[in-house]
Amino acid sequence: MKPIKPKYNALRQQLDAIRPGVQVVAVTKQVDADRTQEAIDAGIIHIGENRPEGLLRKQREIDAEVKWHYVGNLQTRKVKEIINEVDFLHSLDRDSLAKEIQKRADDVVRCFVQVNVSGEESKSGVSSEEAAEFVQSLAQYDKIQVVGLMTMAPITKDEELIRQVFRGLKKLQVEIADKNWPHAPCKELSMGMSGDYLIAAEEGASFVRIGTALVGAESEAEG
Ligand SMILES: *Cc1c(COP(=O)(O)O)cnc(C)c1O
Repeated sequence: MKPIKPKYNALRQQLDAIRPGVQVVAVTKQVDADRTQEAIDAGIIHIGENRPEGLLRKQREIDAEVKWHYVGNLQTRKVKEIINEVDFLHSLDRDSLAKEIQKRADDVVRCFVQVNVSGEESKSGVSSEEAAEFVQSLAQYDKIQVVGLMTMAPITKDEELIRQVFRGLKKLQVEIADKNWPHAPCKELSMGMSGDYLIAAEEGASFVRIGTALVGAESEAEG
């Protein structure tokens, strides 16, 4: 695999030219702890995982001051395993999950509400129409703070379509932030992955979640 540091520096330059504050979450779900450590040594401070086992294993093997992000679908019965180990949860999308977080969390959990802006059936997330009402309903849970919204763009070569999805999320985020709900400052936008992070940054992302294009994927040959 190619060294991470030059890749990260190039990525950082690209992003800084568009939006200097954007945070890079290195999604390490497909690589091992050594490779994750290499990302941290390159200066990355946000690490993302999408399985409880993967997150806990990386935390056992890595001793560094990083922020841990849980970016995948989270089964309700797995909440207790990870909820007190993460700094950010990117996939809050249903009341049953919120209830379980309320029950299991020791402290307030910083959450992104996941929105299925594209409306694809295969994707999780609340619909754009339901998003504001869902966020409002979370006020009953004092262990949940809605820091922002998260979405995944469709897998397509149609950049205009991808852009529309990111714009849609931004519009919702602004609408919700404007309500000034104390439990939901909703200032952040988690959007953009390996194939579309530049579009996401152009459309206002504050966190991009990048795996393959930064740390690599399982299928890539060593060396
Ligand atoms: C895997 C994953 C990513 C990173 O995907 P890449 O295309 O490898 O950059 C980002 N967000 C979520 C929710 C993921 O599951």
